[in-house]
Amino acid sequence: MIRFEDLVEKVRAYNPDADIELLRRAYVFSAFEHKGQVRHSGEPYLVHPLEVADLLADMKLDVVAIAAGLLHDIVEDTQTPIERIKELFGPDVAHVVEGVTKLGAISFSSSEERQAENFRKMLLAMVDDIRVILVKLADRLHNMRTLHHLSEERRVKIAQETRDIYAPIANRLGMSKIKNELEELAFKYLETKAYESLRARVEARRRATEGMIEDLKNTVAAKLTEAQVPVIEIDGRIKRLFSIHQKLKRQKIDLDQVYDMVALRIVTQSVRDCYAALGIIHQTWAPVPGRIKDFIAMPRPNGYQSLHTSVVSERGFPFEVQIRTADMHRTAEEGIAAHWKYKEGRIGAGRDEQYFLWLRQLLEWQQEVRDPQEFLQNLKIELYPEEVYIFTPKGEVKALPRDATPVDFAYAIHTDIGHQCVGARVNGKMAPLRTRLRNGDIVEIVTTAGHKPSRDWLSFVITSRARNKVRHYIHAEEKERSLDIGRKLFEKEARRFGINAKTLADPAAMTRVLADYGLAKADELYAAIGYGKLSAKNVLAKFVPADQLKETPETGIASVVRRVLGTGDEKIKVRGIDDLMVFRARCCNPIRGEQIVGYITRGKGVSVHAAACPNVVNLLYDPERRIDVEWDKASDASPYTVRLSIQVEDRKGILADVSSKIAGINTNIRNVEATVDDQMGRIDMTVEINDVKHLQKVIKSLRGIDGVIGVERASR
Ligand code: MN
Repeated sequence: MIRFEDLVEKVRAYNPDADIELLRRAYVFSAFEHKGQVRHSGEPYLVHPLEVADLLADMKLDVVAIAAGLLHDIVEDTQTPIERIKELFGPDVAHVVEGVTKLGAISFSSSEERQAENFRKMLLAMVDDIRVILVKLADRLHNMRTLHHLSEERRVKIAQETRDIYAPIANRLGMSKIKNELEELAFKYLETKAYESLRARVEARRRATEGMIEDLKNTVAAKLTEAQVPVIEIDGRIKRLFSIHQKLKRQKIDLDQVYDMVALRIVTQSVRDCYAALGIIHQTWAPVPGRIKDFIAMPRPNGYQSLHTSVVSERGFPFEVQIRTADMHRTAEEGIAAHWKYKEGRIGAGRDEQYFLWLRQLLEWQQEVRDPQEFLQNLKIELYPEEVYIFTPKGEVKALPRDATPVDFAYAIHTDIGHQCVGARVNGKMAPLRTRLRNGDIVEIVTTAGHKPSRDWLSFVITSRARNKVRHYIHAEEKERSLDIGRKLFEKEARRFGINAKTLADPAAMTRVLADYGLAKADELYAAIGYGKLSAKNVLAKFVPADQLKETPETGIASVVRRVLGTGDEKIKVRGIDDLMVFRARCCNPIRGEQIVGYITRGKGVSVHAAACPNVVNLLYDPERRIDVEWDKASDASPYTVRLSIQVEDRKGILADVSSKIAGINTNIRNVEATVDDQMGRIDMTVEINDVKHLQKVIKSLRGIDGVIGVERASR
C-alpha cells in the first residue's frame, strides 16, 4: 500500500518547489473526513484518494491537481460542503474537486437525450479546467483496478461506461497508457470468457514468443549499431489482449493465424535517426506492403507521432515495429499530461494548445445540435479519430475521420471552398461529392463562384465542421428567404382589402402586435409568416379588426401599372434552380419561361407549380396560400433535366435518328431507354433543357422525324 511520504517524494523529484504543505494538509483532512469508511475491498477508504493522487503524480501534475485527487471524494461521500474545501485549500483546488464531484454524478447509461446532455456537461468541465478530467481519469483507473470487489451488476455498468466514455476520452487526449489499461480492464469485465480464453492461449505461447522477441531485439540492436544509428531504447512486447481480440474479430481469424502479436519499439535521439532506423529495418526484413505509416510527417489528431511498419522475419513471422524519438514517446504515452507545465499551473502555449483548440471547437460545433442522437453520433466520430489522410494536388495534407467525403475535405481547407464546391476530382477522376475518401487520395475540389451549399450535403458529410457550416448557412438562408416571403404575403393580404401594408404597420401598431405574439422584431413576425407558422390573414386581423375588413378588388392606377408593366414588387423570385425556401414542385417540375404559380406550404417554403399542372386546380381551394411568383431574370442558367416520352413506329434506326437529331440542336441527352410493344415503340429520354423555348424547339424537331408519332413531356 502506498504511503503519503512516498507520494511526497515522487512529487519532489519532478517539482522541487512544490507546496508540500498543501498536500500534507489535504492528506490529513482527507484522512479525517474518510475516517471509519471502508472500501468494498475491506481496506480503509483513504487508500483510494491516495492511489488517485499517486497516479496524478505519475503524470507529473501540479499540487492543485494532486491535492484535488486527495480530496476528490469528500464532497460526495461526506457531509462536508464544497465551501469548506474552498476555505481550507483555496478556489483552484475547490474548483477541481467540484468539477470531479459533478462528473461523478453524471450517469452515461441513461436515455440518449440525457446522455447527450451529460456529454455536453463533461466537455464543458474539460474546457473549464482540464485537471478535472485528469483527476476523473485517475479516479476511474483506480476504480477499474479494484473492480473485482464489486457486485457483477456494478462491475458491468462501470466497465461499460469506461469503454464507452473514459477510454475514448483518454485516447483523444493522447494518453495511451491510461487508455490501454482502461480498455484492457473493460475487456476483462465485459467479455470475461473471451478475455480468459485469449489470455490462456497467449500465456501458452508466451515463453516461445518472448525468446523470439529477445532475438529480434538483439538483431535490431546489432544492425543499428553497425549502421551507427544511436538508439535510446529498444523494447519488445506481446500486444495487449484487447488489441489482439479486436484484430481477431475484425479479420475474422483465429489466434493461430495472428502472426503479428509482437510489437517492437525503437526510441531514437532524433527524427533523422527515426527514418534511418526505418531504412535499416527494411533492409533487414521484407516490409509488408501497405503497412508503412508515417505519423511523424502526419501526426494523428491527438498529437501521436511515430513511424509504423510491419515486416516479416526470416522465419516467416510478421511483426510490427514502431520508431519514434524520446519526446514523441512521452507524448504517445502521456498525451496532454506530457505537456503539462506544473510550474505555471496550467497548460502552456504551443502544441498542447491543440487539445484545447479541439475541445473548444467541438463544443462550439455541438452547441447548435439539438438532436441528441446526432450529437452523440458526431461525438463518437470526434472521440475515435480513426483518420484518413487526404492530399491536395499541391501535396498539402489533411487528417479527416474515416468515411469523410470531398465536401468534408473542402470545408477542412476553407469555408468558402466548402460553400462553393460543385465537384471533386479524386486521383484525377471526377467523383460524386458523396464519395467516401480513402487514405492517400489526392483530391482536387472544383468550385464555382456563387455556388451555395445544399441541404442534401447534411445526409453524407461526416465532420462536425462541415455539418455545422452547412447547417449554419442553410439556417441563415432560410431566414432571409422566409422574411422576404412573409413580407410579400402580408402585403398581398393587405392589398386584398385595399390597405397599404406599409402605412398599416406603423411603429406603434407594430409594437403592439409584436407584444401580442411575444416577438421582438418585425422581421421575426414576417419570417414566421414566411415559414407558414403564422397566417398572413390572422396577423392582418391583429392590425385591423376583422369586421372592419372589406374585400376590395384591386382598382386604380397602381393596379393598372402593375398589370401593364408587370412590376411585381410582391412577387417571389424563382431562381430557376431550387433554393431552400422556393422550390419547383415535383409533380410538374416547371422550367424557366413557363407560366408558374406559387403555393405556400406549411413550414417548408413556397412550392412552384406550372400553371398548367393539374394540382394547381386543387391549390385554388386555398387561395389564401397562393402567391405570385416569377422567374428571376438575374439567375444563372443551369439546365433542367426533362423527361420526354416519344411514341415511334417500330422501325430500324429510329433511335439513332432521334438521338442525332437532338444532338444536332445542341442538346445533351442524359439517359435513353427504348421499349417495343405491339409494333409500337417508345423512347424514354432524359434531356438537358435551358428554358421553355428550348423545350419547344426540341419537341418540334422530334415531331419532324419520320416515324415519330407523338412526343410528350413526362411528369417526372
Ligand atoms: Mn473516487
